[in-house]
Amino acid sequence: MKQIKCRTCRKMVSSKAKRCQYCGTLLKMPILGIVIVFALILFVIGIIVIGMLQSG
Ligand SMILES: [Zn+2]
Repeated sequence: MKQIKCRTCRKMVSSKAKRCQYCGTLLKMPILGIVIVFALILFVIGIIVIGMLQSG
């Protein structure tokens, strides 16, 4: 069975597991995905702030 290293506790866990069996960290969630979600939130907040500044 293929194993991958948990990025939090650095133990070897099954690549088929969605969570680390030792610390519970989500293994399938890429850091890039989190960065994209944060960028989208900042983008939406920026549009709202710009709209408020232009209207008022
Ligand atoms: Zn872990």
